[in-house]
Amino acid sequence: MSFHFYGGVHPDDKKSLTNQAAVTALPPPEQLVVPMSLHIGAPCQPTVAVGDTVKMGQKIGDSGAPVSAPIHAPVSGKVIAIEPRLHANGTMVNSVVIENDGLDTPCETIAPHSEEELRDPEALVKIIREAGIVGMGGATFPTAFKITSGKGKVDTVIINGAECEPYITSDHRTMLEHPEELLKGIELIIRACGVEKATLAIETNKQDAIDLLQSKDPAKYGVEILPLRCRYPQGAEKQLIQTVTGREVPPGGLPAAVGCAVFNTFTAYSVYRACYEGMPAIERVVTVSGSAVQEPKNLLVRVGTPLGYIFEHCGGFRKDPDKILMGGPMMGNAMHSLNVGTIKGTNALLAFCEDEDKTVKNPTCIRCGRCAEACPMHLLPMYLYLFERHDDYANMDKYHIMDCIECGACTYSCPGRLHLTHSCRTGKAKMTAKRNAEKAAAEAAKAKAEAEKAAQGAGKEGK
Ligand code: SF4
Ligand code: SF4
Repeated sequence: MSFHFYGGVHPDDKKSLTNQAAVTALPPPEQLVVPMSLHIGAPCQPTVAVGDTVKMGQKIGDSGAPVSAPIHAPVSGKVIAIEPRLHANGTMVNSVVIENDGLDTPCETIAPHSEEELRDPEALVKIIREAGIVGMGGATFPTAFKITSGKGKVDTVIINGAECEPYITSDHRTMLEHPEELLKGIELIIRACGVEKATLAIETNKQDAIDLLQSKDPAKYGVEILPLRCRYPQGAEKQLIQTVTGREVPPGGLPAAVGCAVFNTFTAYSVYRACYEGMPAIERVVTVSGSAVQEPKNLLVRVGTPLGYIFEHCGGFRKDPDKILMGGPMMGNAMHSLNVGTIKGTNALLAFCEDEDKTVKNPTCIRCGRCAEACPMHLLPMYLYLFERHDDYANMDKYHIMDCIECGACTYSCPGRLHLTHSCRTGKAKMTAKRNAEKAAAEAAKAKAEAEKAAQGAGKEGK
């Protein structure tokens, strides 16, 4: 049985462009740029130097911070530079540049772990951490930290197979092509989290995957398959928790606050590979699609592969693309350079032609209320839009702009073509900047007061 979440929309899923053909492995390029920040949390420090020879799967970056994940060489070759390079997030990030020797010489550490280790929950968390596994659905939150921070609080594990964004089929193909490996990976997550079972939630536009997984006796692995009616953004963490359990994550809260932990399908498959093969997180299936792409397909891509190289292997562009996105059409981020490389959470690359651009010169609100009906977070996007444009911080705060999950459902449903999601994203950035500035000012004032007090004390002693 499933529950419901408020709002949502039903976009044309466009998945038939890529969901029928098997995933093919993309030959790695001659040069890969691996940023030392491929996850949420503290960036890594390089553990190699320019001139070093590296093997595929060798650790090349790590951090002592709890919220972080090590980074591994996606190919074997030579480190030719360690320098700031453009990251997919638009900033310059310290990166290890590897010249591929084309040999894929594996690191000695790539070996299956023992049955004894796989039975021990603590050893499993260590393996997951050392393999650099993060949320591969795009969130890139370090998986080992998610497991350890949820210990004692989490009673329900959900595996996210919803893949509700249009165009994206990378997890669908993974479910079809690696069903037993996926179930074994979920079994390991169940054990690492210290719970009894997990729910693998899949939308019914992937009925072939549901049928296949059901035929593999999922109960043997502690897995229950839950088919879900399609509705966007069902795969968003809070909405999925509500659909599966009926529990509502409080504003600003984490899933563990309602006893839940959610892991992406490809994350579970990566856990399988780390444990049974010793393979760290160096590659991911990426859906390459959209109206501007000559041959849409799913490719297994090494981390740090330049976007231009990936599109070339899909026959290039049918027409000059007007927009290129990393991620889906609803929540993806616009890319401004084809030279940036993929990251661990890259599940899709989409390119669209100009004739699909639905923007208008004078977006106008006709007060129809559809955006509020579509918002799964119960927000009022039409007002948040105005508050953001007028820098009205008090009302942005009062009307909970920080709860916006940037799902795009409001923009999708708006007949006035207002850039509602963009406004929310900008408003959140403004709020964060303001809060950081206020915090810095308060800390500076406190430090100044303490220095003055200390100086006064020193003056009295000197008398
Ligand atoms: S959906 Fe668009 S036009 Fe309708 S109320 Fe919201 S902002 Fe206004
Ligand atoms: S983008 Fe934000 S405001 Fe718009 S529907 Fe999604 S959660 Fe609501």
